[in-house]
Amino acid sequence: GLTGNKGWKPHWRSPEPQSEYDIIIIGGGGHGLSTAYHLAAKYTDKRIAVLEKGYIGGGNVGRNTTIVRANYFLKGNSEFYSHSLKLWERMEKDLNYNAMHSQRGILNLFHSDGQRDAAARRGNMMVNQGDDAILLDREGVRDILPYLDYDNIRFPVYGALYHKRGGTARHDAVAWGYARGADQRGVDIIQNCEVTGIDIENGVVKGVQTSKGPIKAKKVGMVVAGRSSQVAAMAGMQVPIESTVLQAFVTEGLKPVLDNVVTFGMGHFYISQSDKGGLVFGGDIDMYASYAQRGNLPTTEHVIDAAMTLMPMIGKAKLLRSWGGIMDMSPDGSPVIDKTHVEGLYLNCGWNYGGFKAVPASGDCFAHLIAKDEPHPVAEKFRLDRFRTGHGIMDEEGTGSQHN
Ligand code: FAD
Repeated sequence: GLTGNKGWKPHWRSPEPQSEYDIIIIGGGGHGLSTAYHLAAKYTDKRIAVLEKGYIGGGNVGRNTTIVRANYFLKGNSEFYSHSLKLWERMEKDLNYNAMHSQRGILNLFHSDGQRDAAARRGNMMVNQGDDAILLDREGVRDILPYLDYDNIRFPVYGALYHKRGGTARHDAVAWGYARGADQRGVDIIQNCEVTGIDIENGVVKGVQTSKGPIKAKKVGMVVAGRSSQVAAMAGMQVPIESTVLQAFVTEGLKPVLDNVVTFGMGHFYISQSDKGGLVFGGDIDMYASYAQRGNLPTTEHVIDAAMTLMPMIGKAKLLRSWGGIMDMSPDGSPVIDKTHVEGLYLNCGWNYGGFKAVPASGDCFAHLIAKDEPHPVAEKFRLDRFRTGHGIMDEEGTGSQHN
Protein backbone atom coordinates (compact mmCIF):
# COMPACT_ATOMS: atom_id res chain seq x y z
CA GLY A 1 0.00 0.00 0.00
CA LEU A 2 0.88 3.65 -0.16
CA THR A 3 1.91 3.81 3.48
CA GLY A 4 4.44 1.03 2.91
CA ASN A 5 6.43 3.03 0.39
CA LYS A 6 9.12 4.76 2.41
CA GLY A 7 11.22 5.78 -0.59
CA TRP A 8 9.11 8.69 -1.85
CA LYS A 9 10.63 12.13 -1.62
CA PRO A 10 8.76 15.44 -1.41
CA HIS A 11 8.39 17.15 -4.78
CA TRP A 12 9.97 20.33 -3.47
CA ARG A 13 12.11 21.36 -0.50
CA SER A 14 10.73 23.22 2.51
CA PRO A 15 13.52 25.70 3.22
CA GLU A 16 13.58 28.37 5.89
CA PRO A 17 13.47 31.83 4.28
CA GLN A 18 16.80 33.55 3.66
CA SER A 19 17.22 37.11 4.87
CA GLU A 20 17.35 38.48 1.32
CA TYR A 21 16.39 37.54 -2.26
CA ASP A 22 16.73 39.19 -5.64
CA ILE A 23 13.05 38.52 -6.39
CA ILE A 24 10.16 37.67 -4.10
CA ILE A 25 6.88 36.39 -5.52
CA ILE A 26 3.95 36.84 -3.13
CA GLY A 27 1.43 34.03 -3.66
CA GLY A 28 2.06 30.36 -4.41
CA GLY A 29 -0.94 29.81 -6.67
CA GLY A 30 -0.70 28.78 -10.31
CA HIS A 31 0.38 32.23 -11.46
CA GLY A 32 2.99 32.78 -8.73
CA LEU A 33 4.55 29.35 -9.23
CA SER A 34 4.54 29.69 -13.00
CA THR A 35 6.20 33.12 -12.65
CA ALA A 36 8.90 31.71 -10.39
CA TYR A 37 9.44 28.78 -12.75
CA HIS A 38 9.78 31.00 -15.82
CA LEU A 39 12.08 33.41 -13.97
CA ALA A 40 14.33 30.60 -12.80
CA ALA A 41 14.28 28.83 -16.16
CA LYS A 42 15.00 31.85 -18.36
CA TYR A 43 16.67 34.42 -16.18
CA THR A 44 19.14 32.32 -14.19
CA ASP A 45 21.50 33.46 -11.39
CA LYS A 46 18.69 35.14 -9.48
CA ARG A 47 17.84 34.21 -5.88
CA ILE A 48 14.07 33.77 -5.98
CA ALA A 49 11.48 32.92 -3.32
CA VAL A 50 7.74 32.25 -3.48
CA LEU A 51 5.98 33.19 -0.25
CA GLU A 52 2.66 31.39 0.24
CA LYS A 53 0.48 32.06 3.26
CA GLY A 54 -1.17 28.64 3.11
CA TYR A 55 -0.14 25.53 1.22
CA ILE A 56 0.61 24.98 -2.47
CA GLY A 57 -2.61 24.17 -4.32
CA GLY A 58 -4.90 25.50 -1.57
CA GLY A 59 -6.09 28.54 -3.50
CA ASN A 60 -8.01 28.89 -6.75
CA VAL A 61 -5.42 26.89 -8.66
CA GLY A 62 -6.75 23.77 -6.94
CA ARG A 63 -10.41 24.82 -6.91
CA ASN A 64 -11.31 25.57 -10.51
CA THR A 65 -13.23 23.60 -13.12
CA THR A 66 -9.99 23.20 -15.11
CA ILE A 67 -11.15 24.47 -18.50
CA VAL A 68 -8.30 25.43 -20.82
CA ARG A 69 -8.98 27.23 -24.12
CA ALA A 70 -7.90 29.99 -26.51
CA ASN A 71 -11.20 31.32 -27.83
CA TYR A 72 -11.13 35.03 -27.01
CA PHE A 73 -12.40 37.70 -29.34
CA LEU A 74 -10.63 40.97 -28.67
CA LYS A 75 -7.06 41.96 -29.40
CA GLY A 76 -5.13 41.92 -26.17
CA ASN A 77 -6.80 38.79 -24.90
CA SER A 78 -6.69 36.71 -28.10
CA GLU A 79 -2.91 36.78 -28.62
CA PHE A 80 -2.27 36.25 -24.90
CA TYR A 81 -4.51 33.17 -24.58
CA SER A 82 -3.23 31.84 -27.90
CA HIS A 83 0.29 32.03 -26.47
CA SER A 84 -0.93 30.36 -23.29
CA LEU A 85 -2.50 27.41 -25.11
CA LYS A 86 0.75 26.83 -26.99
CA LEU A 87 2.58 26.76 -23.66
CA TRP A 88 -0.03 24.28 -22.33
CA GLU A 89 0.67 22.03 -25.29
CA ARG A 90 4.32 21.67 -24.27
CA MET A 91 3.97 22.10 -20.50
CA GLU A 92 4.10 18.43 -19.56
CA LYS A 93 7.28 17.96 -21.58
CA ASP A 94 8.85 21.15 -20.21
CA LEU A 95 8.06 20.18 -16.62
CA ASN A 96 8.42 16.42 -17.12
CA TYR A 97 5.18 16.16 -15.17
CA ASN A 98 1.83 14.60 -15.98
CA ALA A 99 -0.70 17.44 -15.69
CA MET A 100 -3.34 15.32 -17.47
CA HIS A 101 -3.82 18.03 -20.07
CA SER A 102 -6.63 16.68 -22.23
CA GLN A 103 -7.53 18.47 -25.46
CA ARG A 104 -10.97 16.94 -25.63
CA GLY A 105 -12.59 19.91 -27.36
CA ILE A 106 -14.99 22.59 -26.13
CA LEU A 107 -18.44 23.23 -27.56
CA ASN A 108 -19.92 26.67 -26.81
CA LEU A 109 -23.60 26.21 -27.60
CA PHE A 110 -25.69 28.98 -29.11
CA HIS A 111 -29.46 29.28 -29.06
CA SER A 112 -30.50 32.16 -31.35
CA ASP A 113 -29.60 33.78 -34.66
CA GLY A 114 -27.88 36.63 -32.83
CA GLN A 115 -25.74 34.23 -30.82
CA ARG A 116 -24.86 32.35 -34.01
CA ASP A 117 -23.61 35.59 -35.60
CA ALA A 118 -21.52 36.36 -32.52
CA ALA A 119 -20.09 32.81 -32.54
CA ALA A 120 -19.20 33.11 -36.22
CA ARG A 121 -17.43 36.43 -35.58
CA ARG A 122 -15.55 34.96 -32.66
CA GLY A 123 -14.63 31.86 -34.64
CA ASN A 124 -13.18 34.06 -37.39
CA MET A 125 -11.12 35.97 -34.84
CA MET A 126 -9.83 32.71 -33.39
CA VAL A 127 -8.83 31.41 -36.82
CA ASN A 128 -7.19 34.76 -37.67
CA GLN A 129 -5.21 34.47 -34.47
CA GLY A 130 -3.95 31.06 -35.61
CA ASP A 131 -6.16 28.98 -33.34
CA ASP A 132 -8.90 26.56 -34.33
CA ALA A 133 -12.67 27.05 -34.52
CA ILE A 134 -15.47 25.20 -36.30
CA LEU A 135 -19.05 26.44 -36.53
CA LEU A 136 -21.41 23.49 -36.06
CA ASP A 137 -25.10 23.48 -36.90
CA ARG A 138 -27.67 21.70 -34.75
CA GLU A 139 -27.16 18.31 -36.38
CA GLY A 140 -23.40 18.70 -36.11
CA VAL A 141 -23.84 19.22 -32.37
CA ARG A 142 -26.24 16.27 -32.10
CA ASP A 143 -23.61 13.97 -33.61
CA ILE A 144 -21.22 14.83 -30.80
CA LEU A 145 -23.64 15.47 -27.89
CA PRO A 146 -26.69 13.24 -28.47
CA TYR A 147 -27.89 13.51 -24.86
CA LEU A 148 -28.73 17.25 -24.85
CA ASP A 149 -32.36 18.32 -24.68
CA TYR A 150 -32.97 19.15 -28.37
CA ASP A 151 -36.73 19.45 -27.79
CA ASN A 152 -36.27 22.32 -25.36
CA ILE A 153 -38.63 24.99 -26.72
CA ARG A 154 -37.39 27.85 -24.57
CA PHE A 155 -33.67 27.48 -25.38
CA PRO A 156 -33.41 25.46 -28.60
CA VAL A 157 -29.89 24.38 -29.56
CA TYR A 158 -29.03 26.17 -32.84
CA GLY A 159 -25.44 24.97 -32.99
CA ALA A 160 -22.06 25.41 -31.34
CA LEU A 161 -18.65 26.94 -31.78
CA TYR A 162 -16.33 23.95 -31.55
CA HIS A 163 -12.76 24.59 -30.33
CA LYS A 164 -10.99 21.25 -30.68
CA ARG A 165 -7.73 22.24 -28.99
CA GLY A 166 -9.60 23.34 -25.87
CA GLY A 167 -10.06 20.94 -22.98
CA THR A 168 -9.13 20.37 -19.36
CA ALA A 169 -6.14 19.61 -17.12
CA ARG A 170 -5.64 18.26 -13.62
CA HIS A 171 -5.51 21.57 -11.74
CA ASP A 172 -3.45 20.70 -8.68
CA ALA A 173 -0.97 18.73 -10.79
CA VAL A 174 -0.31 21.99 -12.61
CA ALA A 175 0.56 23.66 -9.30
CA TRP A 176 2.70 20.71 -8.22
CA GLY A 177 4.47 20.53 -11.60
CA TYR A 178 5.39 24.21 -11.59
CA ALA A 179 6.38 24.02 -7.90
CA ARG A 180 8.69 21.08 -8.54
CA GLY A 181 10.11 22.71 -11.69
CA ALA A 182 10.80 25.97 -9.84
CA ASP A 183 12.31 24.17 -6.86
CA GLN A 184 14.59 22.13 -9.13
CA ARG A 185 15.87 25.43 -10.55
CA GLY A 186 16.70 26.79 -7.10
CA VAL A 187 13.55 28.70 -6.15
CA ASP A 188 12.76 28.63 -2.41
CA ILE A 189 9.05 27.81 -1.97
CA ILE A 190 8.07 28.88 1.52
CA GLN A 191 4.63 27.73 2.64
CA ASN A 192 2.77 29.00 5.72
CA CYS A 193 4.48 32.36 5.22
CA GLU A 194 2.01 35.22 5.03
CA VAL A 195 3.15 38.58 3.74
CA THR A 196 1.88 41.20 6.18
CA GLY A 197 3.58 44.33 4.85
CA ILE A 198 5.61 45.69 1.96
CA ASP A 199 8.70 47.76 2.79
CA ILE A 200 9.08 50.83 0.60
CA GLU A 201 11.68 53.59 0.96
CA ASN A 202 11.64 56.73 -1.18
CA GLY A 203 9.37 55.08 -3.73
CA VAL A 204 11.55 51.95 -4.05
CA VAL A 205 10.62 48.48 -2.78
CA LYS A 206 13.04 47.09 -0.21
CA GLY A 207 11.40 43.84 0.90
CA VAL A 208 8.44 42.41 2.77
CA GLN A 209 7.27 41.76 6.30
CA THR A 210 6.04 38.21 6.84
CA SER A 211 4.74 35.88 9.52
CA LYS A 212 8.28 34.40 9.46
CA GLY A 213 9.97 37.80 9.85
CA PRO A 214 11.22 40.50 7.46
CA ILE A 215 12.80 39.49 4.14
CA LYS A 216 14.69 41.92 1.91
CA ALA A 217 14.25 41.90 -1.86
CA LYS A 218 15.29 43.97 -4.86
CA LYS A 219 12.06 43.17 -6.69
CA VAL A 220 8.65 41.98 -5.48
CA GLY A 221 5.77 40.55 -7.53
CA MET A 222 2.23 40.50 -6.11
CA VAL A 223 0.26 37.50 -7.54
CA VAL A 224 -2.40 36.74 -4.97
CA ALA A 225 -5.60 36.47 -7.07
CA GLY A 226 -8.60 36.98 -4.73
CA ARG A 227 -6.44 38.75 -2.14
CA SER A 228 -5.05 41.32 -4.59
CA SER A 229 -6.83 44.32 -3.04
CA GLN A 230 -5.52 43.47 0.42
CA VAL A 231 -1.90 42.90 -0.60
CA ALA A 232 -1.80 45.90 -2.96
CA ALA A 233 -3.14 48.03 -0.08
CA MET A 234 0.08 47.18 1.79
CA ALA A 235 1.83 49.31 -0.85
CA GLY A 236 -0.76 52.08 -0.54
CA MET A 237 -2.57 51.05 -3.71
CA GLN A 238 -6.31 50.88 -4.31
CA VAL A 239 -6.73 48.43 -7.19
CA PRO A 240 -9.92 48.11 -9.28
CA ILE A 241 -10.58 44.56 -8.12
CA GLU A 242 -13.62 43.12 -6.36
CA SER A 243 -13.31 39.73 -4.70
CA THR A 244 -16.30 37.43 -5.05
CA VAL A 245 -16.97 33.71 -4.63
CA LEU A 246 -17.23 31.33 -7.57
CA GLN A 247 -18.59 27.87 -6.80
CA ALA A 248 -17.97 24.52 -8.47
CA PHE A 249 -19.72 21.19 -8.16
CA VAL A 250 -18.94 17.53 -8.77
CA THR A 251 -21.19 14.48 -8.97
CA GLU A 252 -20.44 10.92 -7.94
CA GLY A 253 -18.16 9.04 -10.34
CA LEU A 254 -19.96 7.78 -13.45
CA LYS A 255 -18.90 5.70 -16.42
CA PRO A 256 -17.65 7.83 -19.35
CA VAL A 257 -20.62 9.84 -20.59
CA LEU A 258 -19.34 13.28 -21.50
CA ASP A 259 -16.40 13.35 -23.90
CA ASN A 260 -16.00 17.12 -24.27
CA VAL A 261 -16.37 20.37 -22.39
CA VAL A 262 -19.80 21.88 -23.01
CA THR A 263 -21.01 25.40 -22.22
CA PHE A 264 -24.64 26.47 -22.25
CA GLY A 265 -25.25 29.73 -24.09
CA MET A 266 -28.45 30.74 -22.28
CA GLY A 267 -27.21 30.63 -18.71
CA HIS A 268 -24.00 30.37 -16.80
CA PHE A 269 -23.23 26.69 -17.01
CA TYR A 270 -20.22 24.67 -18.16
CA ILE A 271 -19.48 21.00 -17.64
CA SER A 272 -16.93 18.28 -18.27
CA GLN A 273 -16.24 14.82 -16.88
CA SER A 274 -13.14 14.24 -14.78
CA ASP A 275 -10.89 11.24 -15.25
CA LYS A 276 -12.30 9.86 -12.00
CA GLY A 277 -15.77 9.96 -13.56
CA GLY A 278 -17.34 12.88 -11.71
CA LEU A 279 -19.26 15.47 -13.74
CA VAL A 280 -17.51 18.73 -12.89
CA PHE A 281 -19.54 21.88 -13.46
CA GLY A 282 -19.99 25.49 -12.50
CA GLY A 283 -21.87 28.67 -13.23
CA ASP A 284 -21.72 32.33 -12.37
CA ILE A 285 -20.19 34.06 -9.34
CA ASP A 286 -22.16 34.61 -6.15
CA MET A 287 -23.01 38.25 -6.82
CA TYR A 288 -21.56 39.93 -3.74
CA ALA A 289 -18.08 40.76 -2.51
CA SER A 290 -16.67 38.19 -0.10
CA TYR A 291 -13.47 36.48 0.99
CA ALA A 292 -15.30 33.26 1.97
CA GLN A 293 -14.18 30.17 0.11
CA ARG A 294 -17.69 28.76 0.02
CA GLY A 295 -20.84 29.88 -1.74
CA ASN A 296 -24.55 30.13 -1.08
CA LEU A 297 -27.60 28.12 -2.11
CA PRO A 298 -29.32 30.55 -4.53
CA THR A 299 -26.37 30.26 -6.94
CA THR A 300 -26.32 26.50 -6.46
CA GLU A 301 -29.98 26.36 -7.44
CA HIS A 302 -29.37 28.60 -10.45
CA VAL A 303 -26.51 26.41 -11.71
CA ILE A 304 -28.44 23.19 -11.23
CA ASP A 305 -31.47 24.70 -13.00
CA ALA A 306 -29.24 25.37 -16.00
CA ALA A 307 -27.82 21.84 -15.83
CA MET A 308 -31.29 20.27 -15.83
CA THR A 309 -32.41 22.50 -18.71
CA LEU A 310 -29.49 21.56 -20.88
CA MET A 311 -29.06 17.88 -20.07
CA PRO A 312 -31.92 16.40 -18.08
CA MET A 313 -30.01 13.14 -17.67
CA ILE A 314 -27.82 14.88 -15.07
CA GLY A 315 -30.78 14.71 -12.67
CA LYS A 316 -30.03 11.02 -12.09
CA ALA A 317 -26.53 11.71 -10.78
CA LYS A 318 -25.91 12.41 -7.10
CA LEU A 319 -24.13 15.64 -6.28
CA LEU A 320 -21.04 14.69 -4.28
CA ARG A 321 -19.68 18.03 -3.15
CA SER A 322 -19.32 21.73 -3.91
CA TRP A 323 -16.75 24.34 -3.00
CA GLY A 324 -15.80 27.92 -3.73
CA GLY A 325 -12.81 30.07 -4.56
CA ILE A 326 -12.17 33.82 -4.37
CA MET A 327 -12.23 35.52 -7.76
CA ASP A 328 -10.33 38.73 -8.47
CA MET A 329 -12.92 40.44 -10.69
CA SER A 330 -11.71 43.42 -12.74
CA PRO A 331 -14.08 46.01 -14.27
CA ASP A 332 -13.58 44.79 -17.86
CA GLY A 333 -13.07 41.10 -17.12
CA SER A 334 -9.45 41.18 -18.33
CA PRO A 335 -6.28 40.96 -16.23
CA VAL A 336 -3.47 43.27 -15.18
CA ILE A 337 0.23 42.43 -15.63
CA ASP A 338 2.05 45.65 -14.94
CA LYS A 339 4.53 47.71 -12.96
CA THR A 340 3.24 49.81 -10.09
CA HIS A 341 4.02 53.34 -8.94
CA VAL A 342 6.67 51.80 -6.64
CA GLU A 343 10.00 50.97 -8.29
CA GLY A 344 10.64 47.22 -8.19
CA LEU A 345 7.04 46.34 -7.27
CA TYR A 346 4.90 44.53 -9.86
CA LEU A 347 1.23 43.56 -10.02
CA ASN A 348 -0.45 40.50 -11.56
CA CYS A 349 -4.20 40.23 -10.92
CA GLY A 350 -7.72 40.48 -12.36
CA TRP A 351 -8.06 36.92 -13.64
CA ASN A 352 -11.78 36.78 -12.98
CA TYR A 353 -13.29 33.34 -13.70
CA GLY A 354 -10.69 32.47 -16.27
CA GLY A 355 -7.18 32.48 -14.85
CA PHE A 356 -6.45 28.76 -14.83
CA LYS A 357 -5.93 28.59 -18.57
CA ALA A 358 -3.71 31.67 -18.26
CA VAL A 359 -1.27 30.08 -15.80
CA PRO A 360 1.57 29.30 -18.28
CA ALA A 361 1.43 32.61 -20.19
CA SER A 362 0.83 34.72 -17.12
CA GLY A 363 3.98 33.27 -15.52
CA ASP A 364 5.95 33.72 -18.71
CA CYS A 365 4.81 37.32 -19.17
CA PHE A 366 5.11 38.35 -15.52
CA ALA A 367 8.62 36.85 -15.38
CA HIS A 368 9.50 38.84 -18.51
CA LEU A 369 8.18 42.07 -16.97
CA ILE A 370 9.97 41.55 -13.66
CA ALA A 371 13.27 40.56 -15.28
CA LYS A 372 13.36 43.14 -18.08
CA ASP A 373 11.14 45.94 -16.75
CA GLU A 374 9.17 45.95 -19.99
CA PRO A 375 5.95 44.15 -20.92
CA HIS A 376 6.00 40.91 -22.86
CA PRO A 377 4.59 41.60 -26.37
CA VAL A 378 1.51 39.39 -25.85
CA ALA A 379 0.64 41.08 -22.53
CA GLU A 380 1.27 44.70 -23.38
CA LYS A 381 -2.43 45.66 -23.28
CA PHE A 382 -2.84 44.44 -19.68
CA ARG A 383 -1.98 47.88 -18.26
CA LEU A 384 -3.33 49.01 -14.91
CA ASP A 385 -3.99 52.55 -16.14
CA ARG A 386 -6.44 51.37 -18.84
CA PHE A 387 -9.27 51.87 -16.35
CA ARG A 388 -8.31 55.55 -16.23
CA THR A 389 -7.54 56.01 -19.92
CA GLY A 390 -10.60 54.11 -21.18
CA HIS A 391 -8.68 51.32 -22.95
CA GLY A 392 -10.58 48.49 -21.29
CA ILE A 393 -10.70 45.03 -22.89
CA MET A 394 -14.35 44.10 -22.39
CA ASP A 395 -14.46 40.70 -24.06
CA GLU A 396 -17.60 39.26 -22.53
CA GLU A 397 -20.28 40.12 -25.08
CA GLY A 398 -18.31 38.64 -27.91
CA THR A 399 -17.11 35.55 -26.20
CA GLY A 400 -18.98 34.62 -23.07
CA SER A 401 -15.36 34.23 -22.14
CA GLN A 402 -15.64 35.28 -18.55
CA HIS A 403 -17.96 32.41 -17.86
CA ASN A 404 -15.25 29.83 -17.30
P1 FAD B 1 -4.54 31.14 -6.22
O1 FAD B 1 -4.31 29.66 -6.34
O2 FAD B 1 -5.69 31.60 -5.41
O3 FAD B 1 -3.18 31.76 -5.70
C1 FAD B 1 -3.05 32.94 -4.93
C2 FAD B 1 -2.27 32.57 -3.70
O4 FAD B 1 -1.90 33.74 -2.98
C3 FAD B 1 -3.08 31.71 -2.72
O5 FAD B 1 -2.48 30.43 -2.57
C4 FAD B 1 -3.09 32.52 -1.43
O6 FAD B 1 -3.02 31.73 -0.26
C5 FAD B 1 -1.85 33.39 -1.62
N1 FAD B 1 -1.87 34.60 -0.80
C6 FAD B 1 -2.89 35.47 -0.62
N2 FAD B 1 -2.54 36.45 0.21
C7 FAD B 1 -1.26 36.21 0.58
C8 FAD B 1 -0.34 36.85 1.45
N3 FAD B 1 -0.66 37.98 2.12
N4 FAD B 1 0.90 36.31 1.61
C9 FAD B 1 1.26 35.18 0.95
N5 FAD B 1 0.42 34.51 0.13
C10 FAD B 1 -0.83 35.03 -0.06
N6 FAD B 1 -10.15 29.43 -14.72
C11 FAD B 1 -10.09 28.83 -15.94
O7 FAD B 1 -9.27 29.21 -16.78
N7 FAD B 1 -10.91 27.80 -16.27
C12 FAD B 1 -11.86 27.35 -15.41
O8 FAD B 1 -12.59 26.41 -15.72
C13 FAD B 1 -11.98 27.99 -14.15
N8 FAD B 1 -12.93 27.59 -13.28
C14 FAD B 1 -12.97 28.10 -12.01
C15 FAD B 1 -13.87 27.57 -11.11
C16 FAD B 1 -13.83 27.96 -9.77
C17 FAD B 1 -14.81 27.38 -8.80
C18 FAD B 1 -12.86 28.90 -9.35
C19 FAD B 1 -12.77 29.29 -7.91
C20 FAD B 1 -11.99 29.47 -10.28
C21 FAD B 1 -12.03 29.09 -11.61
N9 FAD B 1 -11.13 29.60 -12.57
C22 FAD B 1 -11.07 29.03 -13.82
C23 FAD B 1 -10.26 30.74 -12.25
C24 FAD B 1 -8.85 30.34 -11.82
O9 FAD B 1 -8.87 29.26 -10.93
C25 FAD B 1 -8.15 31.55 -11.18
O10 FAD B 1 -8.29 32.68 -12.03
C26 FAD B 1 -6.66 31.33 -10.95
O11 FAD B 1 -6.43 30.08 -10.33
C27 FAD B 1 -6.12 32.45 -10.09
O12 FAD B 1 -4.73 32.47 -10.04
P2 FAD B 1 -3.85 31.60 -8.99
O13 FAD B 1 -3.87 30.17 -9.41
O14 FAD B 1 -2.52 32.20 -8.90
O15 FAD B 1 -4.69 31.81 -7.66
